Amino acid sequence: MTSYAKTARVPATEFGAAKKQLGQHFLHERHYIEKIVLAVNPQPGDKLVEIGPGQGAITFPLLKKHGELTVIEYDRDLIFPLTEAARDIGKLEIIHKDVLQVDFTALATGLVPERKTIKLVGNLPYNLSSPILFHCLEHAAAISDMVFMLQKEVVDRMGAEPGSKVYGRLSVMLQAYCRVQPLFDVPPGAFRPPPKVDSAVVRLVPRPAEQIRVSDPQRFEAVVRAAFGQRRKTLRNALNGTCSSEQIVAAGLRPDARAEQIEVDGFVTLANLA
Ligand code: SAM
Repeated sequence: MTSYAKTARVPATEFGAAKKQLGQHFLHERHYIEKIVLAVNPQPGDKLVEIGPGQGAITFPLLKKHGELTVIEYDRDLIFPLTEAARDIGKLEIIHKDVLQVDFTALATGLVPERKTIKLVGNLPYNLSSPILFHCLEHAAAISDMVFMLQKEVVDRMGAEPGSKVYGRLSVMLQAYCRVQPLFDVPPGAFRPPPKVDSAVVRLVPRPAEQIRVSDPQRFEAVVRAAFGQRRKTLRNALNGTCSSEQIVAAGLRPDARAEQIEVDGFVTLANLA
């Protein structure tokens, strides 16, 4: 039982059963909830936005600490119980929408000039984790910080370095735009119902515009996708039709190297040449 439960009007049981198709695994272990709240570390004036509040495991402690919070929840059955339970705790704005349809940049506009960015937090629905991460990248300029719970295997890929078996498209795309900092692991038993996999919490900090070297994001995406599309092939073969051998050499890369050996910067240089 979490500490907010005494102040919440709606008991957790009235939120209904978890829906598998919406990736609902509700966090219940207080220890991990507290660690997430500490990682988010809301500061006065922050615009905090949570993706997928569910039954409020992270929502209510954050609301209690920060006083206001915007949440994005797709499951209509959770909207009323969340509204009721938040009433005595703080100001909860609920956006009842698919997060992939939410314009984070619009959420950040209208904020005071010195804080034109939002902070995101979420125990994400694992079936949608990659689309949500790529959606966040599209709005990276409007986001100052993200603290996300994901499958541990995904967090390992996000933070992987060249030469690692799990270094791939997700690692390169995210690291070109963000600093990726894995924080801690969370076992299946911390959720109800428990997922089949281990989970982990990661922080993503978008790089300031002047540090991002990608000149054409679509071209960069296409080069990285092609390079890892057939990861056992040499760059020359995997990029056939996307980049010439001359361009690969001009980028300072070896055409007989494999994508998994190339640093993020190498992909950026190559994409910028074309
Ligand atoms: N934050 C809660 C917790 O930690 O217990 C719930 C996390 S649960 C893993 C994922 C949440 O995302 C669920 O509440 C689910 O309904 C919501 N969700 C699933 N798909 C969504 C979507 N497309 N847009 C917004 N929320 C979604």
